[in-house]
Amino acid sequence: MLVYEYKLNGSKRQFAAIEEAIRTAQFIRNKCLRLWMDGKNISKNDLQTYCAVVAREYPFASRLNSMARQASADRAYSAIQRFSDACRQKKPGKKGYPQFQKDNRSVEYKTTGWKLDPDGRHIIFTDGCGIGRLKLVGNRNQRIEEFPIKEIKRVRIVRRADGYYVQFCVATSRKFEHVPSGKQLGIDVGLKAYLTDSLGKTVPNPRHYRKAENKLKRLQRRLSRKQKKSANRKKARKALAKQHLKVQRQREDFARKVANTYVRSCDLIAYEDLQIRNMVRNRKLAKSIHDAGWGTFIRWLNYYGMMHDIPVIAVPPHFTSQNCSACGTRVQKSLSVRTHICTGCGVVLDRDQNAALNILEKAVIGTEGHSGTSKPKSLQNASGDLTSAAPCHLEKW
Ligand SMILES: [Zn+2]
Repeated sequence: MLVYEYKLNGSKRQFAAIEEAIRTAQFIRNKCLRLWMDGKNISKNDLQTYCAVVAREYPFASRLNSMARQASADRAYSAIQRFSDACRQKKPGKKGYPQFQKDNRSVEYKTTGWKLDPDGRHIIFTDGCGIGRLKLVGNRNQRIEEFPIKEIKRVRIVRRADGYYVQFCVATSRKFEHVPSGKQLGIDVGLKAYLTDSLGKTVPNPRHYRKAENKLKRLQRRLSRKQKKSANRKKARKALAKQHLKVQRQREDFARKVANTYVRSCDLIAYEDLQIRNMVRNRKLAKSIHDAGWGTFIRWLNYYGMMHDIPVIAVPPHFTSQNCSACGTRVQKSLSVRTHICTGCGVVLDRDQNAALNILEKAVIGTEGHSGTSKPKSLQNASGDLTSAAPCHLEKW
């Protein structure tokens, strides 16, 4: 899936209509959730059918395009499914019981209810919500109009701190041409650096968003000093939301560029499948991990891997930093020890490079089909599955 995003230009009246559509989507999602809470054994199909019932009962709901209504039901269903999967797998900790949504920011259309101008400059929403024709503003290099209309599977309107955006989700078989380099790389999450690869190259943490984050903190403090419900508080909240957006964009942008560079230059990439959540619990590390936006990076890495048709492999993170990548000897070291000095073979390596080498080896052994404990957890691109998570601008579908 490719995701193209444009900012929407329109009138106040049109944005009010968008708000109405977003509220309706939330209403339907919550109605579906309520149905499930009351009845439990509810299938996806039941929810789809229920959509029509809701539309008959509530005239405002019937104004939203029928497939958009179904998309809202789908959202409810995936929340339910996530919860029941977590229960079935007996995941420790919180299972994520589905919550009623109060702050929905988007509405999703599928293949009907909208029409794109042939030149790709405007979109018209044709359902009863009355949004009408909006201008698309965005990067000239992304040309949504070049895709056959039937490849555009979803169209989603999103509210952000600085306005309304539309995202086109395109199911295309278009791939980037990959020039084989013969290079295979392992990547280790940096705590000190953004990442270190198995050739010893380090990508430093970008300075810019440390700066942006300091500004974020300042704005947060300013907000908390303002009187509740005052106009100044409203202003401060808006400034904070905008800064959040800026930080998110910088993080996304950086992750995307680094991931793209790596995928273009390699034929196989392996990374450690860290339970980020577990690590975030460790408060000392939390800052750097959030900073690095590691999850964002992995998403882009998998995405570009899919587009270039190269394997991007997650390997289980056991002993990758302790074992010697040259001879396998286990050399215990605490987090503060930055150099790997092997007691077995005497090799001296940067701690993170040693880990990256181990990660690569695990992945390669896994793909060659050796039996044993070091099989990669998943061969994420092997299936070429188009429904796999595409890294969306800022958030997932
Ligand atoms: Zn060794």
